[in-house]
Amino acid sequence: MDQLFAPWRIDWVERDPEDDEIDGCPFCVLPERDADRESRIVARSEHSFVILNNAPYAPGHVMVIPDRHTGEWADLTDAELLDHAKLKVAAIDALEAGFDPSGVNAGENLGGAAAGGSIDDHLHTHLIPRWEGDTNFMPIVSDTKVIVEALEASYEKLHEAFAALESADGGETGAVELRFSASAGQ
Ligand SMILES: [Zn+2]
Repeated sequence: MDQLFAPWRIDWVERDPEDDEIDGCPFCVLPERDADRESRIVARSEHSFVILNNAPYAPGHVMVIPDRHTGEWADLTDAELLDHAKLKVAAIDALEAGFDPSGVNAGENLGGAAAGGSIDDHLHTHLIPRWEGDTNFMPIVSDTKVIVEALEASYEKLHEAFAALESADGGETGAVELRFSASAGQ
């Protein structure tokens, strides 16, 4: 447990050293690229998206991120908060369908370095599948090539699981588009 909320090792440059330099906030830049598969954005909803963490703590480690660039939940509208919450529910469903974990950790590092986050000005909620007796993933899989292959496999698995959800509404070539009905769950 002590490893889980250690500083998240998000090294966006390492993913494609030659041509993937990101200028600005990665959680703003990546969704605007119109290359969701390459950016590892696996699902999108009206105001939020799900992206694989490229330094995963476990297979299937994703982040659920509001589109709006802010580090404060209070800045989001009710519609954005609800959309983010529903996308988190959908992502947990997809993780369970695709990875069959024993449990899932959901966590945020709010307020900068003291909380252990590496990006503190754009909200993101980590979802990390867990299995009985698992260990910290990074010391075992520290080879970049292995991680990239694992990410590609995770992307395919999750994409398939999101596409099978009731809320899925297209997006065959890029991220799965999810549409949540306004009255769902009431
Ligand atoms: Zn941002």
